[in-house]
Amino acid sequence: QPITTDMATLTKQVKKFATDKKLEIETLKVREEYRREFMGNVSHELKTPLFTVQGYLSTLLDGALDDKKVRKKYLERAEKGVERLIYIVEDLDMIAKLEMGDVNLELSRFDIVELVQNVFDMLEMSADKKNIILMFDVKYNKAIKVFADKEKIQQVVTNLVMNSIKYGKENGTTEVTIEDLVDSKLIIRIRDNGEGIEKQYIPRLFERFFRVDKSGARSEGGSGLGLSIVKHIIEAHGEKIYVESEFGKGSEFSFTLEKH
Ligand code: ADP
Repeated sequence: QPITTDMATLTKQVKKFATDKKLEIETLKVREEYRREFMGNVSHELKTPLFTVQGYLSTLLDGALDDKKVRKKYLERAEKGVERLIYIVEDLDMIAKLEMGDVNLELSRFDIVELVQNVFDMLEMSADKKNIILMFDVKYNKAIKVFADKEKIQQVVTNLVMNSIKYGKENGTTEVTIEDLVDSKLIIRIRDNGEGIEKQYIPRLFERFFRVDKSGARSEGGSGLGLSIVKHIIEAHGEKIYVESEFGKGSEFSFTLEKH
């Protein structure tokens, strides 16, 4: 009976159409929710430093400017607030590009050993402030070539080493190691013996704006965007990122790269 068959086919098609549309609407709803949450987070993150800066500037205008003792301190604090705003805006810019898939990886062959050493040189002062030793074994005295986007990998290593210092303990250590994996891959590990991360938070670490201890982390001046940028960059390379951590003992972040 061709008619019934046709009816059956038609019903099936209509049902499929309805299900597809429903799914489409669900996806749009989730996206809209995501967007709203993101905007909410952005304004919240920007407000805190903006109010700080405004607070110090008004106090200065209200008379503190004449007080030689405090004016430098207040100006420095206002400057810190502006610095923080710049970091946040730069991070937001980067994450927006990464999430829209709007990044062109500029792949080249470079020495990962030299890159790690450069990052260490840049962060030495921050490490010194907490008397943290940055370690990179002497066996890494010859070049190890990889194929990736150098600038972006530099940002990944910088963010991870910076975190190991920020969340590391006084007189602690940060150690970077590079190991061979199968299939011409390398794994780069950044390990600290700092405060570690409670198990329940580990799955959320790479979320935008996520911080374990909002107040504590804020005093460290982070944006909560560092790790999500790191994850995006590594995934844009088609590589993997891992984290292992023990609360009170320390953390290890690692990622893979293509050897070349
Ligand atoms: P932030 O700007 O707050 O540092 P990140 O995205 O880089 O943002 O990190 C998110 C959160 O993950 C941090 O606020 C901190 O709570 C936790 N975290 C990141 N790295 C470490 C680490 N090495 N040791 C302990 N906690 C860490």
